[in-house]
Amino acid sequence: MTYDLMVITAHPDDAEVQMGGTLAKLTQSGKRALIVDLCDGEPAEFAAPGTRRQQAMRAAQLLGADRVFLDLQDRFIIDTIPTRLKLAQLIRRQRPDMVFATTDACIHPDHAAIGPLVDAAVFYARLKQWEQVPGGQQLADTQPWVVKRLFFPHCKMEPVWGDFAFAVDVSATYALKKRALAEYSSIFQVAQGDQLLELYEAEDMHMGRLFGVAYAEVFKSHSPLMVADPTVFQPGLHG
Ligand SMILES: [Zn+2]
Repeated sequence: MTYDLMVITAHPDDAEVQMGGTLAKLTQSGKRALIVDLCDGEPAEFAAPGTRRQQAMRAAQLLGADRVFLDLQDRFIIDTIPTRLKLAQLIRRQRPDMVFATTDACIHPDHAAIGPLVDAAVFYARLKQWEQVPGGQQLADTQPWVVKRLFFPHCKMEPVWGDFAFAVDVSATYALKKRALAEYSSIFQVAQGDQLLELYEAEDMHMGRLFGVAYAEVFKSHSPLMVADPTVFQPGLHG
């Protein structure tokens, strides 16, 4: 089975925090989604090793996505050629139309590495002649694949964006996003009412307010966006 979209992030919970509502919306409309976490997020603050991985699998299931973990080490994720090649190989095997990745502007070094890594992997995935590239042989046995769209959800460790390419109304799937995030008692103090989770929700509400809806998640794009027909836009708050 291949996937319609991939969400590539550093840690288990990043995909949920950044775009859990959008992910649920996409899978509910029939899209096949794969979350790729570059590491297992260990050590987790409030649980034994292995717990965060199990919680991540349950969260993905709630959002209707599959999930895989790569074997990088939490805190040590950087943009390297071997990881670019590994991600490019995954993209060529799964052939997603859309890829989502964290931007490079985040204060967390693991998060900041994702943008350049995925930029490069998406580009590598479309290239031919890997058999002629010393060190690039692992891409030689897969066909080139052109990703149609590369989008960047807002990483909540960055300041709130005043400028972004588009927003998704996630009001209808926000309860699911909250349930998915609540799985992560290994990193959030869910039972006591984690303040960080409340702040994440406040940000999504703030973004929703810009459009007159309850909750929104926002995205950037390197490429300009074009629609076949401008009637696809939701009504604006002020027209
Ligand atoms: Zn993270």
